Amino acid sequence: MADVVDKSTRSRMMSGIRGKDTQPELRVRRFLHGLGFRYRLHDRKLPGCPDIVLAKYRTVVEVRGCFWHCHTNCRFAVMPQSNGAFWAAKLAGTVERDRRNGVALRKEGWQVLVIWECQVDDEAVLRRFAERIRAPKTTKPKKA
Ligand SMILES: [Zn+2]
Repeated sequence: MADVVDKSTRSRMMSGIRGKDTQPELRVRRFLHGLGFRYRLHDRKLPGCPDIVLAKYRTVVEVRGCFWHCHTNCRFAVMPQSNGAFWAAKLAGTVERDRRNGVALRKEGWQVLVIWECQVDDEAVLRRFAERIRAPKTTKPKKA
């Protein structure tokens, strides 16, 4: 059976999407910086080493690659046809790690905002995102 996404989409999904300073992450950083937000990057002291840490707003921002982090109902999050079991296990591990890190961060009182790779070019999504960062937080840690 042929792959369900074309070759260039497949290679885009699997190339360098994971890791630091990806294109989608840089896009979000530039946007937030343009609005005057200041942040730390890849803070190893926090669970999961979050991409963007806005300490003033007690908020962390995760920019997630749709394929690697299994974005639900997303056209970029399509399982490769070859080595299906390998990918399923690998990606399930990533999703589970994301979940655990999210729980740990919220327990420490952080708001965790996730923006997906497929959303970072949408100005309206980014603007709503900024509003959520600025929104007042409850000080007590939320239940996960
Ligand atoms: Zn997506």
